[in-house]
Amino acid sequence: MATNIFLEMVKGNIPCDKVFENEEFLAFRDINPQAPTHILIIPKREIPTLNDLADTDTELAGKMILLAKKLAAREGIAESGYRTVFNCNRDAGQAVFHIHLHLLGGRPMGWPPG
Ligand code: AMP
Repeated sequence: MATNIFLEMVKGNIPCDKVFENEEFLAFRDINPQAPTHILIIPKREIPTLNDLADTDTELAGKMILLAKKLAAREGIAESGYRTVFNCNRDAGQAVFHIHLHLLGGRPMGWPPG
């Protein structure tokens, strides 16, 4: 299995500021937060990009979104609002090639994104 920094966190080889973990997912605070709340939600299974999600991954994808919703409530940003983002490949600026859902909130955000 190829490795990347997020998989190393899953294995416990690299520390992270964990906010949630179960059998399938890990969520932790971004090391370079772009908002007062900036959490990354990752599957423990190796999936490099959104392009690598299969038709059979509907449950996994849905669970990631529902986990974002729950963590937003826990962070106290559900009512004020938040943004969820998957960056995919070069033009979106994906830097870590292990699929991750950004959960950002705690400040007003502009649109369109940069
Ligand atoms: P992306 O550009 O969508 O691939 O986002 C990768 C994110 O991972 C960036 O927001 C980084 O700040 C974040 N990141 C990189 N290394 C770490 C780390 N060791 N712990 C937490 N977040 C990290």
